[in-house]
Amino acid sequence: MTEIPSEFDSSSYRDVLARFDAAAEWFRLDPNIWNRLRLPQRALCVTMPIRMDNGDVHVFQGFRVQHDSILGPTKGGVRYHPEVNLGEVASLAMNMTWKCSLAGLPYGGAKGGIRCNPRSLSKQELQRLTRRYTAEIFPIIGPDNDIPAPDVGTNEHVMAWMMDTYSHQRGYAAPGVVTGKPICIGGSLGREEATGRGVVSVVIESMKHLGINCEGATAVVQGFGNVGVFTARFLTELGIKVVAVSDSTCGIYNKNGLDIGNVTAHKNSRRTLQGYPEGEIISNEQLLETECTVVIPAALSGQIRGDNAHKLRCRMVVEGANNPTTKEGDAVLRERGIFVVPDILANSGGVIVSYFEWVQNLQKYFWKEKEINEKLHDFIVTAFNRVLGFSLSEKVDMRMAAMAISIRRLADAHVARGLYP
Ligand code: NAD
Repeated sequence: MTEIPSEFDSSSYRDVLARFDAAAEWFRLDPNIWNRLRLPQRALCVTMPIRMDNGDVHVFQGFRVQHDSILGPTKGGVRYHPEVNLGEVASLAMNMTWKCSLAGLPYGGAKGGIRCNPRSLSKQELQRLTRRYTAEIFPIIGPDNDIPAPDVGTNEHVMAWMMDTYSHQRGYAAPGVVTGKPICIGGSLGREEATGRGVVSVVIESMKHLGINCEGATAVVQGFGNVGVFTARFLTELGIKVVAVSDSTCGIYNKNGLDIGNVTAHKNSRRTLQGYPEGEIISNEQLLETECTVVIPAALSGQIRGDNAHKLRCRMVVEGANNPTTKEGDAVLRERGIFVVPDILANSGGVIVSYFEWVQNLQKYFWKEKEINEKLHDFIVTAFNRVLGFSLSEKVDMRMAAMAISIRRLADAHVARGLYP
């Protein structure tokens, strides 16, 4: 097998690759296709000198990685975080390839990122940085090439600036270049809530499979951003008690269930969960160890590891975040019989509705929210049942089943396009 080039070598890349290698081995994937998919197709590193509000110029680093475009244009979020690096972005791009293939979307995987702390930048600085990043990656993005979307630290405003910069270069409005935009410039109804809505559909299907009722079920959600907030809100709407949530500063716990509306209002006004009056402050470690029906990691990668997976006290883990469980953590959960719904299935609601947004942009015809939510439910529940069926018939866990289904579609496409015998 091809060695991992040092540029990509990172713990997240090794984790994602280990999962792919295990599935490729189980699947007896053609070694040429296997070798090709171990590395990204294209990776661009850029530097951006930005004038800060105080007059200084700071040089930021950014990345865009396209993993595989055999199924169509590549698709994936843009992350603004101080620890972004090429290896992490490449691992997330690879994960997007598996996710799009599993959901049956006509996309390959991509990811982008800027190494920065968005919380310490003013809105004007963020806008200048986003526009310069878009100009730097302009040659490789576009509605038919590669379509960015929001991820950790980015939102609809960032997508609007990206769309505007790209459109200026082209000379016409090109809404299909990004998804997760504001509705007024071609965004889709239901996109903001889509990942959380999809996570909750998967929680409900998993509970049906395990014979658990919503009444009496409890959840903890790690991360209170786009994915975490909507997941917590939709769970409580279905009568599932959310007993703990957290952000990067702390966790909060209330054994009677948190009022997610009040928690959201507190977080929006203070930008932190600290000081929330109707709950007890806990650490992120304690949050993961809270007794509950389902743990939903919806923050960053590497949160459930070999050293803490044995402390989880839940029946299931539904991965809202990308790559939240390390290879070692996964082995512990498997041994303990905890039902794990992998990220490439559990959080695919975001890219599914991004696909709907892109289709609406290309058609220049917009759908009703009800139709979007129903289609999302249909896509994700179909994928869930396909993965569960495969897992039961082949006696493999849900992660292996999801990977095998995804790889089969990719392998068929590589062969059909005549690239491999
Ligand atoms: P976000 O930036 O909106 O929110 C991230 C949240 O995580 C914030 O509340 C932040 O405070 C919290 N956080 C950061 N570090 C933490 C830590 N160490 N412990 C606990 N909380 C921490 O990001 P998001 O869009 O909600 O994305 C969350 C995860 O979901 C990421 O892994 C992302 O890749 C994945 N994801 C997002 C989408 C989407 O549509 N936004 C789709 C699929 C997957």
